[in-house]
Formats: sequence, C-alpha cells, structure tokens
Amino acid sequence: MTSVLQAQALGKKYGRRWALRDCTIDIPAGRVVGLVGPNGAGKTTLLKLAAGQLEPTSGAVTVLGGRPGHEPAQLAKVGFVAQGTPVYNTLTVADHLRIGARLNPRWDAPLALERVERLGLARGQQAGRLSGGQRAQLALTLGLAKRPELLILDEPVASLDPLARRAFLQELTQAAAEHALSVLLSSHLVSDLEQICDYVIVLAGSRVQVAGEVGRLLAGHPPLGLEDLVL
Ligand code: ATP
Repeated sequence: MTSVLQAQALGKKYGRRWALRDCTIDIPAGRVVGLVGPNGAGKTTLLKLAAGQLEPTSGAVTVLGGRPGHEPAQLAKVGFVAQGTPVYNTLTVADHLRIGARLNPRWDAPLALERVERLGLARGQQAGRLSGGQRAQLALTLGLAKRPELLILDEPVASLDPLARRAFLQELTQAAAEHALSVLLSSHLVSDLEQICDYVIVLAGSRVQVAGEVGRLLAGHPPLGLEDLVL
C-alpha cells in the first residue's frame, strides 16, 4: 500500500493546551479521506500540520514521502483549501487565475479555464459578488489547477446550502477520480462525508477515535452507519 500521509504519535500544543494528541495514522494514496469530528476536535490542526502550515509539538508527519513545508517540490504537490471560502472578494475570477498561474509551478491553465467555463463563472466577476456555492467552486478550481497529488480541504461545504453542498462534493469526487488525486477533507457533519469517502478518520477531544476503510469499519455491523462511529 502506498501511503499519502503517515503520522506517528503526532501532537500539537497551543500554549499549554493540546489541540491534537498522539495521532498515529497511515492514509493510503488515491482515496477520498474524510476527517470528521465536532468543533474543536483538532481537525484544522491536523490538516495544517499535513499542509506544513504548523510545526508539530511532538511526533512526526510525512506527506507524500516528505516533511510537510520543508521541500519546495513536495510543497507544490500538496494543495490546501483553507476553511471558509479562501478567495479575494475584490479580485475577479480572471485575477484569481492569473495569480494562480504566476505562483504555482504546476499550474494547469486549460483545466482552470475549462472548469470556470463549465461552472458558468464569469471571468470579469468580482469573487465577492459570486454566490457562496460559486466561491467554493472557484476555490476548488484554484486548488485543482495547482495539479496537486494531495488536495486538503478544511470544511469546504460548512457554509453552503444543501444543493450547493451536493454540487461541490460531486465536483470534488469527479475531479479526484479523473486526476487520480488523493483527497483529505474535513467536516463536522458525517452526512457530508458518508456519500463520498472510502476512508475515514474520526477525531474527538484532540485524539483519533477511529481510522480506517469505511467498508471495513462497518463490516459485520450492517445496521451501523458512519454516524455511529462518531462519539
Ligand atoms: P472547528 O470545527 O471548530 O474548526 P477543529 O476540529 O478544526 O474545530 P481546531 O481548530 O484544530 O479544531 O482546534 C482544536 C483546539 O485548539 C480547539 O480547542 C481550539 O480552540 C484550539 N486552537 C486552535 N487554534 C488555536 C490557536 N491558534 N491558538 C490557541 N488555541 C487554538
């Protein structure tokens, strides 16, 4: 099994408080992995450690065989879509594409343009004037156009209505399959992840409660759903 992310006794403290403790996981490549847990469980902390935006307090994490945030080549293979909709309200859709092309060595301009056209995002429109669903789709497009091997998304559908949530998750799973992309996304709602993830990590109280293939975790417990794994 090729791993996309391996964590060994990984921990992160803010001041005197542990936000993530003793996290040991091994995530196979090429999956859509759901990170689920209530508010404050440590999801963002784990995702930022994986993206190299935070340094561990204890333990170690390896992403795509390297230490996150320490090697430019490895950094370019990891896309991170931050919580909220990380676009600039006063910039147009076209501005976002131009900046993306300038900053990212693996930028796939045809992919970005094709997605913007297909999603009906007017290139001259300011991002702040797009709907919440469109802003989320723009953020996803920017993430995909970086041509990452691993795309990390922090609660990407938290603020969207049910229709926009479904459309976003459909786009994401389709893109993951098309580009043989590994995806790690978080949500505090199991219902977001149930339909699209084949691997799940359940965090609660800063610790991993359960991690593994959804099918295997539920095997032998036919009446159980993913919801039953979350404390
Ligand atoms: P949410 O779903 O609310 O975003 P989360 O599961 O992503 O929560 P984290 O954001 O990782 O959880 O936070 C875990 C714990 O660490 C929480 O108790 C939070 O208050 C605390 N925390 C997060 N960031 C900081 C920080 N920069 N300084 C101090 N404490 C922090």
